[in-house]
Amino acid sequence: MTATLMDGKAFAADLRANVARQVSALKTETGVTPGLAVVLVGEDPASQVYVRNKGRQTVDCGMASFEHALPETTSQDDLLALIDTLNADDQVHGILVQLPLPAHINADLVINAIAPDKDVDGFHVSNVGLLATGQKAMVPCTPLGCLMMLRAQHGSLSGLNAVVVGRSNIVGKPMAQLLLRDSCTVTIAHSRSRNIEALCRNADILIAAVGRPEMVTGDWIKPGATVIDVGINRIETPDGKARLVGDVAFDSAAQVAGAITPVPGGVGPMTIACLLANTLTACCRSLGQPEPDGLTA
Ligand code: NAD
Repeated sequence: MTATLMDGKAFAADLRANVARQVSALKTETGVTPGLAVVLVGEDPASQVYVRNKGRQTVDCGMASFEHALPETTSQDDLLALIDTLNADDQVHGILVQLPLPAHINADLVINAIAPDKDVDGFHVSNVGLLATGQKAMVPCTPLGCLMMLRAQHGSLSGLNAVVVGRSNIVGKPMAQLLLRDSCTVTIAHSRSRNIEALCRNADILIAAVGRPEMVTGDWIKPGATVIDVGINRIETPDGKARLVGDVAFDSAAQVAGAITPVPGGVGPMTIACLLANTLTACCRSLGQPEPDGLTA
């Protein structure tokens, strides 16, 4: 391997420590404890693990965690009523509804019912629009984490060619917006793109957010490029065990890239750390306090 390993675990630990320090200072100054409400509908085991981790890390950072676990059969109206209650609750500065929601609930409707100032996932259309127009927004956590790692790696991103593979609302599109805001030349590639390998080979920064195990191989990568692998794919190994891999074939990519994130231990830990950062940001904004240091895009 010749690439520098971008250690998301260590980066996320530093970020959480930074959040904890600033939470403590905010509490001393204002007496207010930032609070995050996480709403889970149903019993999906992966979502239960995510929600538990989010709650634990929220408390570890000195913030308040409010968990609302609702049965799979919860009606859309009941969920919307809970969102209304949380919107009006002064102790709650951030609200996250764990996705996916059961099929009988319209996820867009629910997300857009969250008060934009408390929308710490950054999925509300108001935040999407604010980000797209370069205004102060709540920024989706995974792209924010990628941006922080890229800035730490490169300093300025200005003028670099960035290729984002994937155009989802939660990763690909906001990632592209953030890179554009940092003055990259941005290409978004997706399932209908032609000659995607050639597009990728032009990238100084390559972000893979596809959900296809090890799709991006070393021969897609420009020598020395920075590769951020957002993908989390569970595959079965020949001996019948489960293993997590990214959207990038790590071994071949690491021979060509200048820097690369591993899976696991790359972008994943940054996502929750950025959720905590966004909760503190939302709290500071609600109190009219200055933006927290080093936690926003
Ligand atoms: P998604 O399914 O919503 O979007 C996938 C995107 O990939 C689509 O825009 C599609 O056009 C594109 N795509 C599909 N097949 C393609 C192909 N053959 N070539 C090019 N593009 C193709 O997925 P998502 O929610 O954006 O997540 C993407 C991956 O990132 C998944 O593996 C997911 O688990 C992972 N993820 C990780 C984190 C994290 O915290 N690290 C957070 C969110 C998502």
